[in-house]
Amino acid sequence: MKVMKFGGTSVGKPQRMKEVAKLITADDDRKIVVLSALSGTTNALVEISSLIAAGDRNEAKQKIWELEALYYQFVDELLSDDQLISEAKKILAEHFEFLTIILKISFSEALNKDILAQGELLSTKLFCLYLEEQQIPHRLLPALDFMTLDTQDEPQIGTIKVKLSQLLTKHKDTPIFITQGYITKNAKGEVDNLKRGGSDFSASLIAAAINADVCEIWTDIDGMHNNDPRVVKTTRPIEQLSFEEAAELAYFGAKILHPASIWPAQFYNVPVKLLNTMEPSAKGTLITEQAGSTGVKAVAAKDNITAIKIKSSRMLLAYGFLRKVFEVFEKYKTSIDMITTSEVAVSVTIDNDIYLNEITRELEAYGTVEIDTNQSIVSIVGNEITETKEVMRKLFDAIHDIPVRMVSYGGSRHNISLLIPRSFKDQTLGALNAGLFGLE
Ligand code: ADP
Ligand code: ASP
Ligand code: MG
Repeated sequence: MKVMKFGGTSVGKPQRMKEVAKLITADDDRKIVVLSALSGTTNALVEISSLIAAGDRNEAKQKIWELEALYYQFVDELLSDDQLISEAKKILAEHFEFLTIILKISFSEALNKDILAQGELLSTKLFCLYLEEQQIPHRLLPALDFMTLDTQDEPQIGTIKVKLSQLLTKHKDTPIFITQGYITKNAKGEVDNLKRGGSDFSASLIAAAINADVCEIWTDIDGMHNNDPRVVKTTRPIEQLSFEEAAELAYFGAKILHPASIWPAQFYNVPVKLLNTMEPSAKGTLITEQAGSTGVKAVAAKDNITAIKIKSSRMLLAYGFLRKVFEVFEKYKTSIDMITTSEVAVSVTIDNDIYLNEITRELEAYGTVEIDTNQSIVSIVGNEITETKEVMRKLFDAIHDIPVRMVSYGGSRHNISLLIPRSFKDQTLGALNAGLFGLE
């Protein structure tokens, strides 16, 4: 069996959705197709939810109407059979009525998650109607029937495996299953999600759970590029990456993959392919245990990083100091990305500053605390790069104009990370493109 995941732009226009139907019927493999919401929908739902939370119900109502109008137009272009069109409109009416009713209920986090789930629920239902119109045999497999999180909000792969296997056995004659990416049930049994961009994570979890032959991530670009194409003009696709390399790139900002999306496939050794719906014959990127080659493969950047420096003369030779510092972060469930130490100070970075005030207050018990917000981590990723001669020289030659705040080298053989002010990110990515890849 295989898993095919299609992102927002791949289903964002009726014509694109029709192309997806062709792609999933191009072979006879039994498959689970994972869909995102139509592009723009989750952003709109986030906005609607924030407006409701802020008590701005009129504005929220306006946004709901705008979104609803887009969907009615979408259905008219997607379907031609009158009965299926009226079925689709009934579905739209149900989901938009739900959003309108929510306007009258007091806001809660659980309600927010319900609002955010509407995008994937809608895209999958509409896609199934199109498949029905095309007489393509299929079955909708609701993600909320098998995707679950534990009390730490981590996916329960064991449970997902059992539930999916039961469902697949129950429907053993179904060749194509359609399911929602992103959404899940949490440990309280409520609707929840795998965070923004989480459909990639859903696909990888499903692929791992069913031990798929391959997990195909179909998107709007021909694979993982060597640099961020949103920032740098000249980038090129990478043919092959190891799971480690792909995981580092995803974690350190390559938006094409959700940060956590590699580990399930890696753990169960399912190859991942990144493919382009706009150009299905393009090679894309193959991600397996094999790296293919050594040396620098790509750079990526992650924004909204906060650097925290704790300076303490008492730290000198004091064992147990770092443990106390880490315990503060652990207490506030805030993970550390980069760390550097000297005899009198330790600097760490975090990408989630919800508890920054509390963390700062507690760290002040151990020394002077300095905070730098609005930083970016730029990561240089490649198989064995820390052992590849020349990389460090080329790297530092390329960025001699950049005020680098921290460097992390040797933590993994596949990654060198730099912390720089966000305002220098574009310049740094451009300089590295020229210095490491010879691309201007
Ligand atoms: P989808 O909606 O299919 O999930 P995303 O927008 O989440 O698609 O991811 C694809 C986008 O990721 C590309 O359009 C590209 O702009 C962006 N991107 C960022 N870094 C990279 C990279 N290194 N290689 C390829 N794409 C990247
Ligand atoms: N629709 C969700 C988002 O926009 C999940 C995804 O597209 O992967 O974040
Ligand atoms: Mg995505």
